[in-house]
Amino acid sequence: MTIADLARANIRALSPYQSARRLGGAGHTWLNANEAPDAPALHLSKSDYNRYPEPQPAAVINAYAAYAGLTPENVLVSRGGDEAIELLLKTFCEPGDAVLHCPPTYGMYAVSAATLGLPQKTVPLTAAWQLDLPAIEKALPGVKILYICNPNNPTGTLLHRADLLALLEMTAGRAIVAVDEAYIEYSPAESLVDVLPHYPHLAIIRTLSKAFALAGLRCGFTLANPELIALLQKTIAPYPLPGPVADLAAQALQAEGLRLMRARVATTLAEREHFATALRALPAVKHVEPSGANFLLIRCHDGPRTFAALSAAGIITRSQQNALGLADHIRITIGSAAEMAETLTVLKQC
Ligand SMILES: *Cc1c(COP(=O)(O)O)cnc(C)c1O
Repeated sequence: MTIADLARANIRALSPYQSARRLGGAGHTWLNANEAPDAPALHLSKSDYNRYPEPQPAAVINAYAAYAGLTPENVLVSRGGDEAIELLLKTFCEPGDAVLHCPPTYGMYAVSAATLGLPQKTVPLTAAWQLDLPAIEKALPGVKILYICNPNNPTGTLLHRADLLALLEMTAGRAIVAVDEAYIEYSPAESLVDVLPHYPHLAIIRTLSKAFALAGLRCGFTLANPELIALLQKTIAPYPLPGPVADLAAQALQAEGLRLMRARVATTLAEREHFATALRALPAVKHVEPSGANFLLIRCHDGPRTFAALSAAGIITRSQQNALGLADHIRITIGSAAEMAETLTVLKQC
């Protein structure tokens, strides 16, 4: 018997999530993880680390609730949005309950479901990267949780609000709908937070990793009605947020932090449009997908070749070669103006 033989069969079979950091690469310009190009200046204000932290730090919960236009009872804070994705599965899925997601989309829905040994159903997005509602309805029996990403990673697509509302009606009383709004600050009008009171089975996932420029903190949120939040409270680890993280997250959510975040978003959106226009004029680029987030999905004439040319120049992007329907596609994070200019220079030579 080897140690591997003792592992659960689903874990032996599991391909772990290929995070940008795990994939690595040798470069100086990092445009592969949708991180912000600048870091907010935050400073620790406490040193009482002999004590356990608050399980759900009030300063963070209250500030995020105010930012989201909700009450503290609607908010759970977790170790990144990724922990929220898994908590929903642990809370709602019996062994054998299926998880549904719509590729091409964020890879952690599949990895978390596989880690827990849950069956998965996939309903690909349509050719316009929208929800295929009839196919979802057909697949719904046996499904306990659906993960929907809006704006979608890696396509950048904004899903039609009418479709999201139709999905919520279709699933009421049957399944949990988790809408992942990791990139919502780049398209704030698209949030479903305003319809939360109508849908007790809706859970919205948020993060400080993208527009708030705090991926290193590992701080994310679930927004839902109090009954759903109370269930998640039962399954979350006793002290999910380290004290220093809570301290810094609370600062980032004060008025000045929100002002800086909105200014960063405005800069990124202007840079994204400038970059998209320039890309559309390049011979190596076949198509630039419209984006509601801080990245662009581009289709190249030869994706692997273009990806390699960027890598050779020290610019690390995210190949989508193995994602469903995305051969020859590359996802490029919108970084600083200098980083995008450097990227264009290389792409012009492709
Ligand atoms: C980045 C990302 C997350 C979560 O990130 P955390 O750093 O774990 O908060 C969740 N969903 C999507 C679609 C993402 O791109």
